[in-house]
Amino acid sequence: MIQLHFEPLHLKTAHPFGISYGTSTDTHNVLVRLRFEDFEGLGEAAPAEYHGENAASVSSALKTWADEAILGDDPFAIADLVKRLDKSLAGNFSAKAAVEMALHDLSGKITGEPTLKMLGLSGLAAPMTDFTIGIDSLEIVEKKAREAVDAGYKMLKVKQGTAYDKSIIQLVRKVAPDLPLRVDANGAWTPKQAIAMSHFLAEHKVQFIEQPLPKHAHVDDWRLVRSAAAIPIFADESVCRATDVARLAGAIDGVVVKLAKTGGISEALKVIHTARAHSMQVMFGCMIESSLGVTAAAQLAGLCDYLDLDGALLLAADPYAGAEYHDGYLRLPSRAGLGVVRR
Ligand code: MG
Repeated sequence: MIQLHFEPLHLKTAHPFGISYGTSTDTHNVLVRLRFEDFEGLGEAAPAEYHGENAASVSSALKTWADEAILGDDPFAIADLVKRLDKSLAGNFSAKAAVEMALHDLSGKITGEPTLKMLGLSGLAAPMTDFTIGIDSLEIVEKKAREAVDAGYKMLKVKQGTAYDKSIIQLVRKVAPDLPLRVDANGAWTPKQAIAMSHFLAEHKVQFIEQPLPKHAHVDDWRLVRSAAAIPIFADESVCRATDVARLAGAIDGVVVKLAKTGGISEALKVIHTARAHSMQVMFGCMIESSLGVTAAAQLAGLCDYLDLDGALLLAADPYAGAEYHDGYLRLPSRAGLGVVRR
């Protein structure tokens, strides 16, 4: 039998991390360990309150699955396990993502092959990843932007959703006049504001806007914004699973995929392929998570146009070593499974 164990994974960011929903320094994720014979597969759940999950709900779902011995005894029956989990899911997507990534890690370790290879995704060139500057006072935003440039980050993402959004952009552009830049409003704008901001952002060479409208905004509002916007419009919080992509088809230019939202790698692939079927662009993102969760996400990087896999770069101390940042790009480890090891 595959044994499921879990424990809290408490992370701290190097700076307080602000987005339109709030600011925090502490992140409470959950570590999943799957044991089978002499092998151990690792996974990380990165729940977000704004998606209806937290560490307690993740732990409760994992306990139920452990008690029910839902994992069975075949570490390669991943698609079947996903089906079984879906039957008792009740919104626990980040918990499911952690179990599925641990199963990929476990099956890779058993065969001695990296997960990337097991997924048939070797050899794809992945895009550069960005580094996010959260919401803060203008003084701190300027300081963070300078730090990011000095640290050699090649591409920035800036959080929006304040009364001084334009000043934030002007300031970041002053510090980093030429770096590729995208913004994320985390649902803070009305359609009218989003359209007006898109023209301002276009003048400041911003590539696209992520989630300008609230999570539950009507598809007609998305369509309106897209038709009048000066730059492409991506949906993040509004697109969790593949059915959401289909719902917003024609109303947005791109989607942001995250394992914590899709419930793991299988559904993330479905989201990517559904987006492609609707000629949409794809960005892969993450929550605040350690290199364990980021490395699992990075397996699919080669299928995407843009990457926002900086969750581990924002941490004060990363408990895991896995995908490593080099000159803008994430380099995957060559070890078996996810190839992630405790630092
Ligand atoms: Mg986002």
